[in-house]
Amino acid sequence: MSLLEVRDLKTYFRTKEGVVKAVDGVSFSLQEGEVLALVGESGCGKTTTALSITRLLPPEGEVVGGEVLFRGLDLAKESTQKIRRTRWKDISIVFQGAMNALNPVMKIGDQIAEAVMLHEKTAYDAARKRVKDLLELVEINPERIDQYPHEFSGGMKQRVMIAMALACRPRLIIGDEPTTALDVMVQAQILDLLERLRRDLQMAMILITHDLSVMGETCDKAAVMYGGKIVEYGTVEQILEQPAHPYTQKLVTSFPNPYGSREMVSSIPGVPPNLLTPPSGCRFHPRCEHASDTCRISEPPLRQIDSGQVVACHLRGETSE
Ligand code: SF4
Repeated sequence: MSLLEVRDLKTYFRTKEGVVKAVDGVSFSLQEGEVLALVGESGCGKTTTALSITRLLPPEGEVVGGEVLFRGLDLAKESTQKIRRTRWKDISIVFQGAMNALNPVMKIGDQIAEAVMLHEKTAYDAARKRVKDLLELVEINPERIDQYPHEFSGGMKQRVMIAMALACRPRLIIGDEPTTALDVMVQAQILDLLERLRRDLQMAMILITHDLSVMGETCDKAAVMYGGKIVEYGTVEQILEQPAHPYTQKLVTSFPNPYGSREMVSSIPGVPPNLLTPPSGCRFHPRCEHASDTCRISEPPLRQIDSGQVVACHLRGETSE
């Protein structure tokens, strides 16, 4: 059984202007210890997918269809109480800029201990001992347990947030652009740390990123999202070395690619679709240089191609096997 199986997930936001179909039929699976990247431009549905899995959507957002099976339990349909327990003990999330979420007037050790005491029903002394272990795990001197957030750099605060996310030993950690707000050197250190923790603790991870180099260094599989849908899904090598969907191809050439040719980095013309009124047919058609009349009318299904990945594009036929 997969650790996580997301099937035909649909999450819509009800706004004054109308219904925004932010996630519209997304499916993927994750095994124990595996790392999946969710990649794509801003507004393609990556964060909404993560918030749907953890049931942390804002009030106007709602999962209107599909299943989120975590070890067989459908998180989309469980009670709020059960989800609260799952959120820390089974799945936890590290947000972009989460370091700014630390309480500035509370010692970092007490902030982590609070999570341990609340979710593991642990006494304060035992929780403090666990906090020291967690700080050591994220390479912070445990002697700093009684310091305040302002005494830490941005990268160190992000390590504190990761320690907090690990407080209840989750099986799955979701990192939503966890290094975006950091400079390149610190970003590399945090990614190394996440990779080591995943290996040592045998955790699975979903890494949400718009940065393909981060994906290439850290992940096993990738789902490329566009307009609230997955347009390509495969191993990181397949996505980076043989991207098959025209959007993925553009995305790959918009980043310096250690796997690809030395061609100039180029941008993707146009802007992502407004999901209040998404384009008909293939949602990428207004930006696609290969778009045909069929693309404008008919939505391409996801299907497996010869190189192994799954792609939603009319140009790509089914595998010959
Ligand atoms: Fe381009 Fe058509 Fe493929 Fe969409 S289905 S990516 S518009 S070729």
